[in-house]
Amino acid sequence: MTGQTPRLSKVNLFTLFSLWMELFPPIEQQKKSQVKYIVKKTGLVVVKNIKMVGLHCSSADLHAGQIALIKHGSRLKNCDLYFSRKPCSTCLKMIVNAGVNRISYWPADPEISLQNEASNPASTEDAKLDAKAVDRLKSNSRARVCLLLQPLVCDMVQFVEETSYKCDFIQKIAKTLSGCNTDFYTECRQERIKEYESLFLISNEEMHKQILMTMGLENLCENPYFSNLRQNMKDLILFLATVAASVPTFGHFGFYCNGSQQTNEMQHQSLPQEIARHCMIQARLLAYRTGEFLCEWEKNHCDGTGAMYFVGCGYNAFPVGSEYADFPHMDDKQKDREIRKFRYIIHAEQNALTFRCQEIKPEERSMIFVTKCPCDECVPLIKGAGIKQIYAGDVDVGKKKADISYMKFRELEGVRKFTVNMSGRLKWDLPNYIRSLFQPSPQNPQQAGS
Ligand SMILES: [Zn+2]
Ligand SMILES: [Zn+2]
Repeated sequence: MTGQTPRLSKVNLFTLFSLWMELFPPIEQQKKSQVKYIVKKTGLVVVKNIKMVGLHCSSADLHAGQIALIKHGSRLKNCDLYFSRKPCSTCLKMIVNAGVNRISYWPADPEISLQNEASNPASTEDAKLDAKAVDRLKSNSRARVCLLLQPLVCDMVQFVEETSYKCDFIQKIAKTLSGCNTDFYTECRQERIKEYESLFLISNEEMHKQILMTMGLENLCENPYFSNLRQNMKDLILFLATVAASVPTFGHFGFYCNGSQQTNEMQHQSLPQEIARHCMIQARLLAYRTGEFLCEWEKNHCDGTGAMYFVGCGYNAFPVGSEYADFPHMDDKQKDREIRKFRYIIHAEQNALTFRCQEIKPEERSMIFVTKCPCDECVPLIKGAGIKQIYAGDVDVGKKKADISYMKFRELEGVRKFTVNMSGRLKWDLPNYIRSLFQPSPQNPQQAGS
């Protein structure tokens, strides 16, 4: 129940999404930087009326801010932008010019890196000049350029650890491995924490202070502000790593069409595994606001996400305009109330469809990422909306739970369903593989045949 479950604030959700977009799997060979300074890949979330309308990341040719301008143009007016790095002056001047309301950024190394002093003093000079230009643009603009980081609610870290471990994908893998331990989850999480800290945190505190000062944030360099800032950053990185570990890269597991022998990406036009995982983790992040996530393939693109663009997202909630108290609450003494509340909740899929910011085009390959199996109320909606692919958990398939049943997903046709499975090809090859362990292999095929 929402009253007891810790929730992510919107600001933190958008901030985490911007970091996560920076981690979008590279779809093109990143060019060796020939420019004087080092431009870091940056993630960006565009928010209009507290609703996400765009998710972007830098490509080999364009910065995230430039992509947002190409995609949204003057519709950026009054939007709030969340960057995973402080944008450079080239991006900032265009965004400010478009009339955005607010620009928030993650307070580590900016887009034009200030972190490589020793290795290349000339490039650092350039980067410092750019930081100065950014600061001037900032003080002369109507838009507010600021840091928006909120501390996580106190039991959030514990909650995310428990729920990630218990999530459908980990459980499915653990069950398929039957009896094997789930230490792979702990290991995977440790790896992610290390990786993300090296990307999103400046490990040397003095260096971090230097960078904050160059960015015009001297006031954050004093304690307790500085240590609070770093603690907030560390908590959010830990949160991100924990959720990312809940949809792990593990052995031959991935999102595959069920019951199919041939699972190659061409045949089913499925996403590359690392992009499917990326989108599913995004949906899992959204679930901590209590969700999922729609996106589409488009033909012309300039974005770092390649052919993908964002259509909409949603999470479970009571209908817009209603008060929380209008509906029966979960109460241990009255178990039937728990059952009744499901009649009032708008499911994440329903909210994603209702509040999408783009049309679902029948000619495009639109896809939805759902952290759990879509229920019988939602399955016909997804199909009717013209969505072509569902990526989902399938632990609940065929079950009836309280007031919700999950019977229709299995029968659903005309929409491709991708759930966590062992690679179909491997399953098919497995008997041969095992046989080859026990049989002496022929010296050469001709001899074996004779
Ligand atoms: Zn830029
Ligand atoms: Zn549903």
